[in-house]
Amino acid sequence: MRWTGDRSGNLDDRRGMGGGGGLIGGGLGSLIIAAIVFFLGGDPSAVLQSSGQGMGAPTSQRELSQEDLKVREFVSMLTAENEQSWNEIFKEKGLQYRPVKVVLFEQATQSGCGTAQSAMGPFYCPTDETIYMDMSFFNELRNRFGADVGEFSVAYVMAHEMGHHVQNLLGILDKVHSRRQSGQLSESQINAESVATELQADFLAGVWAKKTESREKFLEPGDLEQAISAAEAVGDDNIQRQTSGYVNQESFTHGSSAQRKEWFMRGYTTGDINAGDTFSELIGNQRRGRF
Ligand SMILES: [Zn+2]
Repeated sequence: MRWTGDRSGNLDDRRGMGGGGGLIGGGLGSLIIAAIVFFLGGDPSAVLQSSGQGMGAPTSQRELSQEDLKVREFVSMLTAENEQSWNEIFKEKGLQYRPVKVVLFEQATQSGCGTAQSAMGPFYCPTDETIYMDMSFFNELRNRFGADVGEFSVAYVMAHEMGHHVQNLLGILDKVHSRRQSGQLSESQINAESVATELQADFLAGVWAKKTESREKFLEPGDLEQAISAAEAVGDDNIQRQTSGYVNQESFTHGSSAQRKEWFMRGYTTGDINAGDTFSELIGNQRRGRF
């Protein structure tokens, strides 16, 4: 992808700070609410809770390398392009967009949803409206899950998390959360809601790519394929095959490789946020998740 000239001020780079990057006290006392984790599962509270103890192994303080600084600039650029595109899309709908914050960290850091750990993968915390990313995730994406990783894979993953922020602003996350808390959904219904939420974030990532392309002309040959490769790599079927050796569709929380690819591309080809009602289409409830 072609780098644009835009940079965002909403980036907090906590790498190289040592001591777990500003981690205070292990986070056990903090209020745990559902953050949206990119690929570990819809509800990471178990991960967040278990991360309270034995956590915060101090990372040594270090100077950021040239490569680190380049990554910072790249993430700042992607953040800026998300802000611009979503600002425009919201304005077209007569809505007001509120920018998200992005935190880069190493190993562990404090988040509004408890202790963030690199093993969780990138996630969005609705409480503090912040995306947390440890870039080592992308090595895992390549080495463990076989994605063709490049700059646009990072762009897709960030756009997916930004999609969760959009869902938050539109009130969709709140609705999903209260249905989950109601105690009236079965385990498999909860999982289906999670899949619809995640596939909608993939769809919104596609909408973002389309909008940004029309303004910036930033896509180069192979970029969409990189996004698709990342989307396929983090499909539940692929992850289950890699981690447990078998596939159980009922336990899907993010959708299959084919679905993730399909919804990202649907967002990209339509470029219309109204075409992404995954809740109606996958769960069949017309009133859920409407924009
Ligand atoms: Zn997600």
